[in-house]
Amino acid sequence: MSRLALVTGGQRGIGAEISEQLKAAGRRVIANYASSDDAAKAFTERTGIPTIKFDVSDFDACVAAVAKIEEEHGPIEILVNNAGITRDAMMRKLTRKMWDDVIDTNLGSCYNMCKAVWEGMSARKFGRIVNIGSINGQAGQLGQVNYAAAKSGIHGFTKALAQEGARNQITVNAVAPGYVDTEMVRAVPPDVLEKIIARIPRGRLGTAHDIARGVCFLTADDADFVTGSTLSINGGQHMY
Ligand code: NDP
Repeated sequence: MSRLALVTGGQRGIGAEISEQLKAAGRRVIANYASSDDAAKAFTERTGIPTIKFDVSDFDACVAAVAKIEEEHGPIEILVNNAGITRDAMMRKLTRKMWDDVIDTNLGSCYNMCKAVWEGMSARKFGRIVNIGSINGQAGQLGQVNYAAAKSGIHGFTKALAQEGARNQITVNAVAPGYVDTEMVRAVPPDVLEKIIARIPRGRLGTAHDIARGVCFLTADDADFVTGSTLSINGGQHMY
């Protein structure tokens, strides 16, 4: 049977493209989401990829969901921690809740999901984990103290966990997208977006396709020697 992949936030935006490319690469795929029931239904109708609703910032929900998926579909061998949110504000207006929500959803979720699959992957001596970071975790970004901290944390988390997983053939890598043309980026005011694009040497926003190509590579069986790395896919905007 082909390997089973779970993609968090896998039914829209970058995650949807990751789910679809993994399926095209022969994986069985399950896409998680948090609240967009209509988008999830439409996604499954269009792609045939099943979805499962749970909050990745809730540890118990993650453990329960992984147990349910593994009971119904078999072991999760590929995990893509893609779910993420922004709650942007300058420090003066950044509330404790905005901080907590972003840290818990973007970074806490990596702990929650990795913890839930770790024992199984270790026992079976195979795993592919990809965590979606961000250029703003590498370079920082005005008005994104919470998001930059969470994404930067993902990069450290990835390197540390990769060292633990190596002995059991579990690779743990990060993909750090630059600015990608999704709803998250379309919410940026047009004048700000124009300035952002002007700073991208490649002269355009990234696409979900660009990012998913990197994830597919890192989750391939023969990417065994790539671990603890961060693949920056950003059109040359930040060479880290
Ligand atoms: P979108 O806002 O388009 O999609 C976010 C996805 O995450 C949705 O599927 C959403 O589910 C899911 N999600 C959000 N919160 C939770 C939660 N608590 N539990 C489960 N699922 C949740 O984001 P993008 O596609 O733009 O971004 C995907 C990833 O890439 C994120 O980690 C983001 O930080 C990162 N990134 C994006 C960049 C960009 O330019 N777009 C640049 C750099 C990094 P639902 O639909 O139910 O809300």
